[in-house]
Amino acid sequence: MSDTEHPKSDNKPSNFIRNIIDEDLKNNKNNGRVVTRFPPEPNGYLHIGHAKSILLNFGIAEDYDGYCNLRFDDTNPHKENIEFVEAIKKDVEWLGCHWGDKVYFSSDYFDALYDFAVQLIKKEKAYVCDLNAEAMREYRGTLTKAGKDSPFRHRTVEENLDLLARMKAGEFEDGSKVLRAKIDMASANINMRDPTLYRIRHGVVHHQTGAEWCLYPMYDFTHCISDALEGITHSICTLEFEDHRPLYDWFLDTLETEHHPQQIEFSRLNLEHTVTSKRKLTALVNNGHVEGWDDPRLPTIAGLRRRGCTPAALREFIKRIGVTKSDNVIEMAVLEGCMRDDLNKNAPRRMAVLHPLKVIITNYPEDKEELLEAANHPQDESFGMRKLPFSRELYIDQEDFKEVPPKKYKRLIPNGEVRLRNSYVIRCDEVIKDSDNNVIELRCTYDADTHGKKPEGRKVKGVIHWVSAKHAIEAEIRLYDRLFNHPTPDNSKDGKEYADHINPDSLRILTHCYLEATLSEATPGDQFQFEREGYYNLDPMHQAGNKPIYNRTVTLRDAWEKIAKK
Ligand code: ATP
Ligand code: MG
Repeated sequence: MSDTEHPKSDNKPSNFIRNIIDEDLKNNKNNGRVVTRFPPEPNGYLHIGHAKSILLNFGIAEDYDGYCNLRFDDTNPHKENIEFVEAIKKDVEWLGCHWGDKVYFSSDYFDALYDFAVQLIKKEKAYVCDLNAEAMREYRGTLTKAGKDSPFRHRTVEENLDLLARMKAGEFEDGSKVLRAKIDMASANINMRDPTLYRIRHGVVHHQTGAEWCLYPMYDFTHCISDALEGITHSICTLEFEDHRPLYDWFLDTLETEHHPQQIEFSRLNLEHTVTSKRKLTALVNNGHVEGWDDPRLPTIAGLRRRGCTPAALREFIKRIGVTKSDNVIEMAVLEGCMRDDLNKNAPRRMAVLHPLKVIITNYPEDKEELLEAANHPQDESFGMRKLPFSRELYIDQEDFKEVPPKKYKRLIPNGEVRLRNSYVIRCDEVIKDSDNNVIELRCTYDADTHGKKPEGRKVKGVIHWVSAKHAIEAEIRLYDRLFNHPTPDNSKDGKEYADHINPDSLRILTHCYLEATLSEATPGDQFQFEREGYYNLDPMHQAGNKPIYNRTVTLRDAWEKIAKK
């Protein structure tokens, strides 16, 4: 557990945001109501960072008997679309979060927002400005230099109202005019230097409002008003919005809205060996570095789901990392540890041979078959038993046989013995090779008296997995590794771009693997521990021709930790 999450006696997490809410409730602020929201822009799929925000906002609503709105912040139509809206809804639900009767859209408030803009003009707090983008930048000043007033700042209320109405009616071209707040061009906070409220965008079709508008509100103006209209009490966002808070408050104070939510900032989740920025994820998808938004190597929720991460594992991860105001980068091992703990408990055991080597049991009759009982879970009897077919021809993994064994090698060697898991002890009598001296087959004999029994008079130390060749299911197995070699690819400080750090070996595809026969009953998304190999799921979306695809969710142990310690 991190030092940021001290469970209270009721076992709910505690963090600085919950402390603020506790204090508010004590003072009966907001009449004891707690209302939050999760406000994604539908311009990409959600990633693991969003999971932190989702679980924080929905978790608070649940624990304080309030509610949390899912609100699409959809003010930038040319990057947004309905596919992203639907994908986001699916991911939020998959995480186990519920948004009530209705999904909200900022675009629901376009009329209301326009009325608020009119109010600002009437209060002499907004004006139409004709400066072009370049001039605006110049007038804005810098961190060390105050800005200058726009020459259009002193237009009359009447003139501004007229121009805004004509902007709305489509009389002006894109970029020719904007509506700006009239605040303070000399403010130390650049966000307060007469920020833009509305821009003109002709010819875009918005996924909710169609072609109705050619005037679109900016994020800062839209966000606080949407919060206020929904009666949000605590508007929780990430730290980069800290400098926008004065503006958030300025809008609501100036417009004297009925509700004035409190903005609270927390630190973003960053994860090693990956990127969590929608812009960069979009580029990875569009440039073909990965197969799509649900590529199991991506930190998207869809990718994690396809890889076999469960909602429970993701929730546990978010709980372990806690909520603070300090920026940090979490090790991938923390996430993988959560997946492992979850699957160790919940995934039934199966056998699968990834690099097959044929074994013929020469003293087992050709037409004989038998079914051997095997436990589905070594610790948990409630998983029950299954029956494994055994026959004369088997596959074992190439790694489990060595002609010249390294020191301490306990598996199969020429004239040595090994136990087949859940089955008999076999001895390797003969090694068959091809013309290139590759081992292609082993001739072995089995000891019929060793099923469930120790062999008499000798010790057999190694246990290996196997499948019956005749009964096995052929499958494609995909082994995923980190997508980036560098722990912080977008901040590597070596002059390279994040895309330069892509790990060329992040995906290995094994096309001829053999799975035990019981896996014919698996359904898409099912998860298993392939004994001695790791945790795998049956790909919920895809097949390789008529072969099933199994994705490796996570290895049995943390291989990178071992490498780091070497
Ligand atoms: P990105 O930088 O990936 O494009 P964003 O902030 O633009 O993310 P939004 O769709 O606006 O994406 O995010 C919705 C909510 O999720 C916001 O409240 C945002 O603060 C939060 N969020 C985004 N990324 C993270 C993160 N890495 N960790 C925690 N919360 C995040
Ligand atoms: Mg954003």
